[in-house]
Amino acid sequence: MVVYKTPGEIDAMHAAGQVTASILAAVRARALPGVSLAELDETARDVLAAARATSPFLGYLPAFAKSAFPAVICASVNDAALHDIPGRYRLADGDLLSIDCGAVLDGWASDAAISVQVGQRRPADTRLIATADQALRAGIAAALPGGRLGDICAAIGAIGRAAGYGICTDFGGHGVGQAMHEDPHVPNDGRPGRGLTLKPGLVIAIEPWFLAGGVDAYRIDRNGWTIRSADGSRAAHVEHTVAITEDGPRVLTAPVPGPPAV
Ligand code: MG
Ligand code: MG
Repeated sequence: MVVYKTPGEIDAMHAAGQVTASILAAVRARALPGVSLAELDETARDVLAAARATSPFLGYLPAFAKSAFPAVICASVNDAALHDIPGRYRLADGDLLSIDCGAVLDGWASDAAISVQVGQRRPADTRLIATADQALRAGIAAALPGGRLGDICAAIGAIGRAAGYGICTDFGGHGVGQAMHEDPHVPNDGRPGRGLTLKPGLVIAIEPWFLAGGVDAYRIDRNGWTIRSADGSRAAHVEHTVAITEDGPRVLTAPVPGPPAV
């Protein structure tokens, strides 16, 4: 069932989204060679605590998992695309890191992700991340009242396919509200003009993830969580929580620029 939000509820979700944006900024700044993924999770926990927000990731136990998620971020490195559990692994020069996180504030959830390069940048990773970011922007641009859900899916898929990347539609975007995962599912490929009509009040996470090797297949680690490319190629994942409004898409997890530093 799709739950539509009032303008006031969307404002409340924006406040939650700003906490998520702050977490991603803090983790991005700390993602340097030698830093462990567990340390990045600690950084995220500090931001949540300072904002008096909670994590929709911690303790999450969806139907596909075998155990509750034990952290507040997913930190997926290189061939890991989604849902890797931050542990003792220390980032190395040249790693591609995808960070996915969320925040719940005043009962409203938010969900966003970025992909970053650690230390020395690799041209292939620069292209992969830039393409995922481009697909995210295209998906957001298609989130227009009166449009269809398939318009968003098709916009994302067209960019990933044109670049030759693998796309898996088993895991993708979703409704967001008082729960992190609500209806509808928003696959990263599809046909325009199909699916749910987009109406003001619909809030969705749009989250392209692409596999550099061009194969659509993935595998899951024995921990039941970590999703990796089947061919060992690198993956990038980016995400925003977006509200459809009368005036067009409103990105709730985009960082709002602060006052200029004195
Ligand atoms: Mg996410
Ligand atoms: Mg999501």
